Amino acid sequence: MLRETLAQLEHTVKELADIDMALDEASIVAVTDQGGTITFVNDKFCEISQYDKDELLGQNHRIINSGYHSKSFFREMWRTIAQGKVWRGEIRNRTKYGAYYWVDTTIVPCLTDEGKPYKYVSLRIDISKRKEIEGTLDTLIATLPDLVIFKDGQGNWLSANQVALALIGIGEEAYRGRTSQELAEFSCSAREWMASLSRLEEEAWQTSATLEREFEVSTVEREPRVFSFKCVPVFHDQGDRSGMILLGQDVTEQRRTEAFLRRADQITAAGQLASGVAHEVRNPLSALKWSVLMLQEKYEREALFPMMLAEIDRIDHTVEQLLTLSRDKVSVFSQVNVDEVLRGLVPILRAQAEEQGVSLRLTMASDLPPVWGDGNQIKQVLVNLMKNAIEAIAESGQVEVSLSLSEDGRLVIKIEDNGVGMPREVAARAGEPFFTTKPGGTGLGLMMCHQIVREHGGSLNILSREGRGTTISVLLPVSQPSA
Ligand code: ADP
Ligand code: MG
Repeated sequence: MLRETLAQLEHTVKELADIDMALDEASIVAVTDQGGTITFVNDKFCEISQYDKDELLGQNHRIINSGYHSKSFFREMWRTIAQGKVWRGEIRNRTKYGAYYWVDTTIVPCLTDEGKPYKYVSLRIDISKRKEIEGTLDTLIATLPDLVIFKDGQGNWLSANQVALALIGIGEEAYRGRTSQELAEFSCSAREWMASLSRLEEEAWQTSATLEREFEVSTVEREPRVFSFKCVPVFHDQGDRSGMILLGQDVTEQRRTEAFLRRADQITAAGQLASGVAHEVRNPLSALKWSVLMLQEKYEREALFPMMLAEIDRIDHTVEQLLTLSRDKVSVFSQVNVDEVLRGLVPILRAQAEEQGVSLRLTMASDLPPVWGDGNQIKQVLVNLMKNAIEAIAESGQVEVSLSLSEDGRLVIKIEDNGVGMPREVAARAGEPFFTTKPGGTGLGLMMCHQIVREHGGSLNILSREGRGTTISVLLPVSQPSA
């Protein structure tokens, strides 16, 4: 009986020794007392921390602390193990010479009969390589100009990059483990597009396919952007949902350029048409006007004549604008001081504006360089844009015109009104030849502005919000002509 027990004990001891050796081989082992003083380390511990055994024994475990983790991180760890529970986590430590290494750490408390820990055994595995790869991947995703979101199979957010977080307007800490619905609650502006995105995701799950769709994303501070989203559903081998990858690319500029090119085609076509029509209309029109003037003299009391003359003038005005489109007008380029042009224009337009209850303000930076262009054409652009701004104000409001220099050295003319703004359908078409929403409009003004600005090597951007107003920026290069 005794012999049997002894044999069994011997066997158990040997088995324990085997396990011990295996552990010693496989992992980085340290033992501390309940105060954190190191009482044992194995060779692997010395190897990775680059300390000698006698440099470690008797020291506090803090000796390898890298300062990376927060105080609360370690407080939480101590709380767990002091309660006699096993703690597991990933820790960054520091070697004797200041290099860092990452270890997957399990700390097992050894308990007295009363259940109080009297020492702690920590088993660690070197995960520095994995951390390095993860770090590179994180940096890559974080710095990507595209939106990236990873979700689990239940729709909880696992990870998202800066672009994604900034769009919703939430911080690093707030999003993990939450669903899109929960996150949409944080941000009014994101609610609509996040709902569209959720629908697309659901479709991707249903069809088990990568789906791509474009929609408008409203943002907190900036104008709405157009994003092209891609949903990639990932399934486990067994076929259940593993996770979802969401990618989003801002295609606003791309779409804008495409629209601009389409418009440019239309403008060219309209320009060719215009010169033909304008010449045909001009002569009969002046004959007509002359005749009406004659008749008016003869039948003085006929009230219809002023109306007829006004209408003829309107047609004449349209024809005039059409002619500016056609190529037979030669541009005369020279140094143009846009501030002087504006100083001449604003008082005239201000008088008109004030009659309609609109105040017109002008602010200009000092020492602005001249641009190389056709003064008359630039004047036309300014008049058209300011008139549009004034006309956009229904009752009272204000138009602000400002002149400044952009960071990249271009002249910025900004015309801002707090008028009706453009609904989406109008914004999409404004600048098309003959597109107008005004009873007496020609629908040629914006198109002409686009054309002139383009010929000056500049750009014209429209930012409009329905019901709030419109800001139009014209950027013109100030580059000098080569001598
Ligand atoms: P028109 O002024 O003769 O209508 P434009 O080409 O100048 O022609 O403008 C086209 C259309 O664009 C306008 O009818 C209007 O609907 C819209 N629009 C232009 N500027 C503004 C503005 N500042 N605010 C609101 N809508 C504008
Ligand atoms: Mg106009």
